[in-house]
Amino acid sequence: MRVLILGGTAEARALAAELVGRGVRVTSSLAGRVNNPRLPIGEVREGGFGGPAGLAAWLERERPDVLVDATHPFAARMTASAAEAARATGVRLVVLRRPGWPEGPGEVRVPSLEAAAAELAPGDRVFLTTGRRSLPVFAGLPGVWFLARSVDAPEGPVPGNVHVVLGRGPYDLDGELALIDQHRLGVLVTKDSGGELTKAKLTAARQRRLKLIVVERPPLPRGLTCVETVADALRDIGVG
Ligand code: NAP
Repeated sequence: MRVLILGGTAEARALAAELVGRGVRVTSSLAGRVNNPRLPIGEVREGGFGGPAGLAAWLERERPDVLVDATHPFAARMTASAAEAARATGVRLVVLRRPGWPEGPGEVRVPSLEAAAAELAPGDRVFLTTGRRSLPVFAGLPGVWFLARSVDAPEGPVPGNVHVVLGRGPYDLDGELALIDQHRLGVLVTKDSGGELTKAKLTAARQRRLKLIVVERPPLPRGLTCVETVADALRDIGVG
C-alpha cells in the first residue's frame, strides 16, 4: 500500500510513523516554507504541487492508494486542492483534523484575522500567535503593541510596535506565564489551532485574565468530513 500525506503538523508526523511501522510506503508532502522543518519518517517531498491540477497530476503519476490531508486546520487552500484533486483522480481521500480548543467563558470568537484586529484598541499589549504572515493585518493598528511569536522571523522590516520572539512548540505553562508577565500582556490573539503543543498559552492567558480573541477555523469544503485522531485515520486508511 502507498499513502501520500499532506503534512506540516504533529499529527501528520505521527501518522507517517504509524504507517511506516505497518509496512506502508509513505510519502509526506511539506509546503517547504519553514526553515529546518521537523521531518517525518518515510519519504518526503517539499513545495507546492501547482494547485489542484498539479496535485492531480502527481496522483495520476504516482497512484497512491490513499491521499491523507493532515495539514493544519487553517491550511484551507491545500485542503480545497486535495478535495478537488481526489475527486478528479478517484484517489481515496482521508482528512485528519485535530479537534479545536473548547471555547472558554468570556472568550471572543471571530471569523477572521481582520475581525480579530477589529477587537483591539489603543493601549492594548497583545500576545499575537497567528503566524508571521498575518503580521500585516495587525501591525498598522495605532497605539497597539504586539509580542508576535512565530516559528521563523517575519520577512521584511518589522514595525516598531512589534517585538518578535521566535519559538516552536511545545510550550509549557510556566514559560507562557513568564512571557505574559515580562511583557505585561493584556490580550491573546490566537487561531483555534487545537492540539496540546501550543495549548499552554490559553491556560496561561486565562490564569492571568487576559482578553482572549480566538480566530475560528475555516470550514471544510462542502461534502467533506474528517477524522480527529491518528487512530481513526489509520482505521479509515484500512490498517487500524
Ligand atoms: P495553504 O494556504 O492552504 O496553502 C497554500 C499553498 O501552499 C497550497 O495551495 C499549496 O501550493 C502549498 N501547500 C500547503 N501545504 C502543503 C503541503 N503540505 N504540501 C505541499 N504543498 C503545500 O496552507 P498554509 O496555511 O500556507 O500552510 C502551509 C503548510 O504549513 C501546511 O503544510 C500546514 O500544515 C502548515 N502549517 C500551517 C499553519 C497555519 O496556521 N496555516 C500552521 C502550522 C503549520 P500548491 O497550490 O502549489 O499545491
